[in-house]
Amino acid sequence: MTSSLCNREDAAELCILTLAELDLKEQPPFSPKDHLKAELDASTRKKYASAKRKAFALFVKAKEMVAETCYPMSACQGAVFWRCCQQTFKDLTGIHRHVAAHHSGDVGQETLGILKQMAAGSNNITSSPVTVDEMPRPSRPLYRSQEMFQTLPDTSHISADEMASEVGQVLLYYCYCEVADPGGLCAWQKALCQHLHLTGKVRIASEGINGTVGGSKVATNLYMDAMLSHPLFKDILKREDFKTSKGGAHCFPDLRIGVFEEIVPMGINPEKVSYKETGIRLTPKEFHVEVEKYLFQGNKGQADTILLDCRNFYESKIGHFQGCLAPDIRKFSYFPIYVDENLDLFRGKRVLMYCTGGIRCERGSAYLRSKGVCKGVYHLRGGIHKYLEEFPDGFYRGKLFVFDERYTIPSNGGTISACRYCGMLWDQYRLCSTQPCHQLVLTCTDCQLKGFTACCPLCQEKGLALAATSSGQGFKEECECTGTRQRIPVERV
Ligand SMILES: [Zn+2]
Ligand SMILES: [Zn+2]
Ligand SMILES: [Zn+2]
Ligand SMILES: [Zn+2]
Repeated sequence: MTSSLCNREDAAELCILTLAELDLKEQPPFSPKDHLKAELDASTRKKYASAKRKAFALFVKAKEMVAETCYPMSACQGAVFWRCCQQTFKDLTGIHRHVAAHHSGDVGQETLGILKQMAAGSNNITSSPVTVDEMPRPSRPLYRSQEMFQTLPDTSHISADEMASEVGQVLLYYCYCEVADPGGLCAWQKALCQHLHLTGKVRIASEGINGTVGGSKVATNLYMDAMLSHPLFKDILKREDFKTSKGGAHCFPDLRIGVFEEIVPMGINPEKVSYKETGIRLTPKEFHVEVEKYLFQGNKGQADTILLDCRNFYESKIGHFQGCLAPDIRKFSYFPIYVDENLDLFRGKRVLMYCTGGIRCERGSAYLRSKGVCKGVYHLRGGIHKYLEEFPDGFYRGKLFVFDERYTIPSNGGTISACRYCGMLWDQYRLCSTQPCHQLVLTCTDCQLKGFTACCPLCQEKGLALAATSSGQGFKEECECTGTRQRIPVERV
């Protein structure tokens, strides 16, 4: 049986990789040609094992299918299976057994090819990833996407404990750039994150990439290395563009990687408002000086500047810059409408914008600029995250909200928000206790003990009624208390 018989071309388009589960120890070993075996000393034995693993993984990968291709679907959530020799394999163990039993010759050939390539080029396997160009038989294009297997780091020297350690960090980063093959980048990201046991979310679009991933220290460092050496990002993404905070894989329920129209959902086609039209970026220091000037002006009642928090209301509620305007909007896709409805507010003004890590400002400022009413639009490079690193005791008050299970990351800013029920200073969010409701609520420990665990009294009652009848009929996913707030607030000019 030759491999080309069961080779399916469309496998290269698929997004879900399961390399992390690859464990060759259970598989019968392939037998390399005797003359090669003789050449294997202790150090090349390791290279051989690594090349064999890669060859095996590449072979299995080529047999992989998902129910639907991921692009242009909004997320790659299709079920994965494998087709080989006219058989279907529902789990990885099945296809591994099959490949080990029936394709050892093919895998052996691939292994030799990879080894020859390694010998011809660099001898350092950790820095010579297998790419399309290096595939042993280029006449048989296994992979349409060159990005697919680029720079998957070698983790063989890392212990399982170290790799899966709970004590780690959460990375937050983005990179606006032209991505020609979002599907290919998506597949590589999936392979990379699974390989490194990371959790979190990565959004990929033709306008770039936006990720927040959690894992052990060693895994997140390898992730940064891989990103920084990727051809797409190596000249534009810098190590300091990654914002780090204490955390780990436990901060996210799972790993979600997908291709979207925008890397942050503003709801405006990137071709209409491009990141290239962004405002003027200010370093934390420059921003600090501008805020200082603004606050001084503001005290004299003659500010020509607006300090604009472009995050959602529940984020700015627990922490914001002194003297900022914080729109009461529930999601970023309302920001453009907010701008449209409040154009007079911005007319003739200098606008200083900020958000968590800078990504929303990149295109938010471009949108504001596109209206042509402001005197100037500036934004904080690296967002509050980077500002707090340089100015822990600066003009930011309260906590920094983050979109993972931690909800906030500590800062020196104290507490500026209150418990919804008793008014005591409180800034620890929790999810409303009424199941289908997805609102966040600030309820202090005492109030929680008294049973105030829902987003509002109405929702609390509904929750109790629901528990009594144990039926979720007629229940909206979003609480009615959101309806009491204006969808798009209009500011007094
Ligand atoms: Zn087969
Ligand atoms: Zn309370
Ligand atoms: Zn609720
Ligand atoms: Zn409510």
